[in-house]
Amino acid sequence: MTRVTVIPGDGIGPEIIASAQRVIEASGADIEWVEAAAGESSFKATGDPLPHATVASIRETRVALKGPCTTPAGLGFRSINVALRQEFELYAGVRPARGFEGVSCLFPGLDLVVIRENLEGLYTSMEHWIGEGHEAAIGIGVNTRAGMDRICRYAFDYAETHGRKKVTAVHKANILKLLSGLFLEVSREVSKDYPGIEFEERIVDAMAMQMVRDPHQFDVVVTTNLFGDILSDLAAGLVGGLGLAPGANFGNDTAIFEAVHGSALDIAGQGKANPGSVILAGSMMLAHLGYHDHAQTLERALTEVLREGKAVTRDLNPETGVNTQEMTEAVLKKLAS
Ligand code: NAD
Repeated sequence: MTRVTVIPGDGIGPEIIASAQRVIEASGADIEWVEAAAGESSFKATGDPLPHATVASIRETRVALKGPCTTPAGLGFRSINVALRQEFELYAGVRPARGFEGVSCLFPGLDLVVIRENLEGLYTSMEHWIGEGHEAAIGIGVNTRAGMDRICRYAFDYAETHGRKKVTAVHKANILKLLSGLFLEVSREVSKDYPGIEFEERIVDAMAMQMVRDPHQFDVVVTTNLFGDILSDLAAGLVGGLGLAPGANFGNDTAIFEAVHGSALDIAGQGKANPGSVILAGSMMLAHLGYHDHAQTLERALTEVLREGKAVTRDLNPETGVNTQEMTEAVLKKLAS
C-alpha cells in the first residue's frame, strides 16, 4: 500500500482528480489516498490557501496528485502551485507533449518533453512598486549556477534514461546576458559530460516559431522557469490542447503530479473537462512509485479510448457531446477488458 496525498484543487480540479483516482485504482495499483486542501477553495473555506496540514501530509507521503489551483491575477494570494514547488524544492518540471493517434491536432505523432526549471528565474516573487502612485514596478529574476547546473543535468539524465537523442537549451542570452547567459553557459558546460546526447541551443523567440512550424526536430527541451511555462503550453497546443498535457514536478525526495493546465473556470462544473491530462499525470506518478506495469496499463487504456475517438470530451471532438464522466467510464471499461 502506497500513501499518496491528493489535492482536488479548484475549478475543474475536483472533477478531473476524481476521474484520475478512479482509473488509478482500477489499474490495480495499491494506493491509499490522503485528501488535502489547497487553492482558492481552501482559502474561501479556511482563510488559508495552503494549510499547514496539506504541507505536513506531503512531507509524510512524499508524493501528491494535485488538481489545478486558481491564482488571482494581480493582487491576492500568491500561487499555491509555485509555493508547493518551492516548499519541497521541486526543481524539475517535466512536461511531455505527445500527439496521440486518433486525436485531431496540428502534429500527430509528435513526442517531445519540455523540462522546465521550476524554482528560479522570474518566479522568485521578488517584486515591488516604485513611487507612491505605483508609477513603475520591478520584478527581480535570479538564476543560480547550482540551479542551472542541476536542471541541465536533469534534462541530460532524462534523455539518457528515456532513450532520447537530443537536448535543446532555450535561452534569451542575447538580451538577458547575465540572467539567461548563465543558463546558456552552464548548459554548454554540462552538455560536454553527455557525449552520447546531441546538444543544440535556441533563442526563445525563434524557438517559439520553430516549434509551431516544425516541432518534430525537437526531443528534450530544457529551459528556465518562465520560458518553460510558456513553451509547455505551446507544446500542448501542438498536440490537441491542454486536455492531454500532463506535468510532474520532481525534487530530490518529493514529487507532485498535475496537469499542465489551470483550473479552467470557464468550464468548471459543466462536465466538459477532459480528464486525460491528470490521468496521464497519474500514469507518470505510478511509474515514479515503481508501479510500472500499472502505469503502462493505464496509459494503454486511455490511448485506446483516444484512438477510437468516440468517448472523448468536446475539446478533442466537438461532435461527441461526451462529458468528463463518460470519458472516464470509457477508460475504466478498457481497463476492465
Ligand atoms: P487554463 O489552463 O485553466 O485554461 C485555458 C483554456 O484551456 C480554457 O479555455 C480552458 O477551458 C481550457 N482547458 C484547460 N484544461 C482543460 C481540460 N482539462 N479540458 C478541456 N479544456 C481545458 O488557464 P487559465 O484560464 O488562464 O487559468 C485559470 C486559473 O488556473 C488561473 O487562476 C491560473 O493562475 C491557474 N493555473 C493553475 C495551474 C496549476 O494549478 N498548475 C496552471 C496554470 C494556470
